[in-house]
Amino acid sequence: MLTGRFAPSPTGPLHMGSLITAIASYLDIKASGGQWYVRIDNLDPPREDPSATAAILSSLHNHALEADLDVDYQSDHQQRYAQALQQLQSQLFYCTCSRKTLAKHERYPGTCRANTTPLDDAAIRLRVSDHTIRYTDAIVGEQIHQAEAFGDFVVKRRDGLWAYTFATAIDDGSDSTHVLRGQDLLHVTPQQIYVMQQLGLSIPTYAHIPLLRFADGAKLSKQSHAPALDDTRAAENVRTALRYLGLQPPRHENWQPAGLLEWALEEWPNHQLPQELATYAST
Ligand SMILES: [Zn+2]
Repeated sequence: MLTGRFAPSPTGPLHMGSLITAIASYLDIKASGGQWYVRIDNLDPPREDPSATAAILSSLHNHALEADLDVDYQSDHQQRYAQALQQLQSQLFYCTCSRKTLAKHERYPGTCRANTTPLDDAAIRLRVSDHTIRYTDAIVGEQIHQAEAFGDFVVKRRDGLWAYTFATAIDDGSDSTHVLRGQDLLHVTPQQIYVMQQLGLSIPTYAHIPLLRFADGAKLSKQSHAPALDDTRAAENVRTALRYLGLQPPRHENWQPAGLLEWALEEWPNHQLPQELATYAST
């Protein structure tokens, strides 16, 4: 079965940028005859907002983005991540480098590679061996990366939390055949494929969509104070999101979100996404 996911971090309510990604991931997998699901990437409690998960799920529902599978929570996957760590044991080491020391280097210089026995108060890094990673992104095109260029990376943080790149690679490689997400995550894809390859997981098909940006170039995010979606205007929001994606839904006075998505699903297979999205304009 083909599966595609929308995987928000519960740091705040959905904004127009996240709605665009949600809708694109929904249309993309549905147009392929697959199943769409929502994964809440909640592995970083200090950064999260306790009310965000409920707000995100209710907002998706209000915009007619109904999942085919139950909501998945990364916090339920501790065992899966621990098993992966076990499997990679021979490639791990314990890093005690300070943030300040690391800031001087473009990539990790391998300082702690010899620390292969567990240390307290240390990050766990994966020792990367040289290897070429190739994949074809459905939007960005062919990608070729040398693993040594990204260097040994953190799989478990010094504070004991799983690294986002690592956990997400394991989940995507285990559960998703299709990953459509924003281009802000394009740079972690080679590392994630590397992790999947080391673990013998299937590599999903990737599509990285252009980001929605403010006029000053900042992407819409919690940090850039992107306004929360107003769920009482869900139909207009869906219409706007589709327009950013380059689709032009016809004007029907009473078109509800579900009708708009149904229309978009018909268009999607022959639709070419724009290389860049129009600049965000609040309405
Ligand atoms: Zn180190």
